[in-house]
Amino acid sequence: MQVTEIFYSLQGEGLFLGIPAVFLRLNGCNLRCKWCDTKYALDPKNARQMTIDEITKIIKKYPAKHLVITGGEPLLQQKEILSLIKKLKNYYIEVETNGTIKSTLDNYVDLYSCSPKLAHAKTLNLPLQKFPGKKTFYKFVIEHPANIEEVKNFIRKYKIKKSRVLLMPLGTKEKELKERSKWLAELCKKEDLRFSPRLQITLWGTTRAR
Ligand code: SF4
Repeated sequence: MQVTEIFYSLQGEGLFLGIPAVFLRLNGCNLRCKWCDTKYALDPKNARQMTIDEITKIIKKYPAKHLVITGGEPLLQQKEILSLIKKLKNYYIEVETNGTIKSTLDNYVDLYSCSPKLAHAKTLNLPLQKFPGKKTFYKFVIEHPANIEEVKNFIRKYKIKKSRVLLMPLGTKEKELKERSKWLAELCKKEDLRFSPRLQITLWGTTRAR
């Protein structure tokens, strides 16, 4: 498996905000978002080829039984992910994906945290793949209040339940996050959509592998 890093932290975003979790960050992505905050995970120079046994051993060192498989785009390595999940039977498996690659792991994954990219990401505009409704949350990164129209079109086009949508402010600096959070919180109230902070930035800034 091509791994960028494995670390133990708190889930900083989305449905499981604040839960202790082991993070397996895989290497490589099929998109190139302008504001990607994990560019180091796109660079093959930062990849380490690891066996499933090596990865399992590291994951099991930590007390939490919540594994977040992230990237890059982890669904580029589905075959290897399946072998890993089969070794982690009592773990809750959360996969963070950009949603553009069809997953064959629905029977094994507990939650997809899907983050479709809006136009401001300035990357390839690939269609959203189908994910199981009861196992998927959609997290949209918001740069500007006007982005809400794109989110609403997305919800309509792909028939996503509003209760499965989270809006998260764009930003890797606490000051810009705070400013965006203020108007985004009001927007969430107005549109009846859930807000997601970025706890990892508040706690650790842009430090890697906290
Ligand atoms: S999809 Fe995610 S990992 Fe890939 S380039 Fe965009 S922000 Fe970065």
